[in-house]
Amino acid sequence: MRYDCVVLGAGINGLATAYALKKQGVEKLALLEQFQFGHGQGSSHGRSRITRSSYSTSKYVALMQLVHNRLWPAWEEAAGQPLLHKNPGIFFGPGIARYQDSLREVPEVSDLIEELEPAEAARRFPPFLFPDSPKVLVDHTCAVVAADRTMRFLAGQLKDKIQEHCQVQSIERGSSLYLDTNRGGIECERLVVTAGPWTTRLLPQLKPNLRAAHQDVGYFEIDAPAEVGQFPVWVYAGEQADTSFYGLPEFERPGVKLARHRTGPHGDDPDRQLGDQIPEEAARDLMENFVAHQWSGQARLIGYDACIYTNTCTEDFILDHWPEDDRVVVGAGFSGHGFKFAPLTGQVLAELAIFGRTSLPEFERHRQAFSFAAAQCW
Ligand SMILES: Cc1cc2nc3c(=O)[nH]c(=O)nc-3n(C[C@H](O)[C@H](O)[C@H](O)COP(=O)(O)OP(=O)(O)OC[C@H]3O[C@@H](n4cnc5c(N)ncnc54)[C@H](O)[C@@H]3O)c2cc1C
Repeated sequence: MRYDCVVLGAGINGLATAYALKKQGVEKLALLEQFQFGHGQGSSHGRSRITRSSYSTSKYVALMQLVHNRLWPAWEEAAGQPLLHKNPGIFFGPGIARYQDSLREVPEVSDLIEELEPAEAARRFPPFLFPDSPKVLVDHTCAVVAADRTMRFLAGQLKDKIQEHCQVQSIERGSSLYLDTNRGGIECERLVVTAGPWTTRLLPQLKPNLRAAHQDVGYFEIDAPAEVGQFPVWVYAGEQADTSFYGLPEFERPGVKLARHRTGPHGDDPDRQLGDQIPEEAARDLMENFVAHQWSGQARLIGYDACIYTNTCTEDFILDHWPEDDRVVVGAGFSGHGFKFAPLTGQVLAELAIFGRTSLPEFERHRQAFSFAAAQCW
C-alpha cells in the first residue's frame, strides 16, 4: 500500500499529528502502532496530566499561552467535552527562582500568577507545609488534562487510519520511503516519526541525544479534600531538575497522584514490562519520604503506575526535519512534559511534513530551539 503520509507511533504525539494531517485533508494517511491502541508500555497512558504556564524557561511560558487560549479549546470543541479541568497550580521548593525568572519574562501571564509567603500558602493549600520554599507561586492557568479521554477522542477521529500491532522494523529511503513492518512493506511520500522511547531503535543517530527513563507514579489516600477544585496540581522544584516532584488531585481513579520527575540520562529499556504492582522499596521510600517532609496528616500509598520518559539533556523537544532527508519529520525527546503541548506539536509536525514550515508565528519565533542543530548530546 502507498500512502501520502505515514505517522509512526500512536502515543499522544502520533495521534495529534495524524489528527492534524487529516484536518489538512491528507486522505492517504496511516498511523502505525506496534502494540494495541492505549497500551501501557509507553509515555502517554494514565488518566491525568498537568498543564501549566509556569516553566523554568520563558519560551515554554510563551508557547503555553497559544496552547491554552487557542489550541486546546479547538480540541474540546471538536470533542464536544471538556478535556482540561481548571485547577489552581502551586510551584514551590528550593529551586523556585528558576520559575520566577522565566515568568517575569512573559508579562501577559503576570496577572495570572500569585506569589505567596510559605505560611500564607500553607493556610490556603492543606496539607502542604512548604518547609524549604522561599516563596510559593500560584498559577491560575493550570488544569488537569483528561489524558485518557483526550487519547480516546483523537483515536475516535482516526478509526480508519490506525493500524495496530504493526511494528516498523526499518526505514529505507529511495524514490519513496519504504517501511519494512511485521505486516509487510509500506510505501509513503512523507513520514513522521513519533516513536517515543523507541525512537533510537529506528534512528540510531539520535542515541547521543535521547535517553529513556523509567518513572514510578504513586497514588495516595490522604485525610484532606483531594478532588479537582479541592487539591492543587503542584510542582516541587528541587535544587536540580532531577530532584523535582509533581502531583495532581484525585481524577478518575482513587488517590492523589505523586511522582518524582526523573530527568537524567538513565538509558532504561523501553521493552521492560511496565506493571501496576506497588514499586520496589527504593521508589516507594522516595515518595513516602517526600510526603513525610512536605505534607501534614496521614497519606497511604494505595495505587501505582509505571511509565517512561524520553529525555534530552536540556528537556527541550526535537521537532524538526530529519537532517539526512527532509521527507522525514521527527518529534522526540518530550522529557516528561509533552502531553500538554500535543495540540501544538501535532500541528507543527503535520505542517512541517506537508509544507516544510508552520503557520504558527508563535512557534516559528522559537523554532530553532527545537531543531536538530540545537539538540545537545548527553
Ligand atoms: C509518569 C508521567 C507523567 C507525565 N506527566 C506529564 C504532565 O503532567 N504534563 C505533561 O504535559 N506531560 C507529562 N508527561 C509527558 C507526556 O506524557 C509525554 O511527553 C507524551 O506522552 C509523549 O508521547 P509520545 O507520543 O511522544 O510517546 P509515546 O506515548 O511513548 O508513543 C510512542 C508510540 O510509538 C509506538 N512505537 C514505537 N516504535 C514503534 C515502531 N517501530 N513501530 C510502530 N510503533 C512504534 C509505541 O508503541 C508508542 O505507542 C508525563 C509522562 C509520564 C511518563
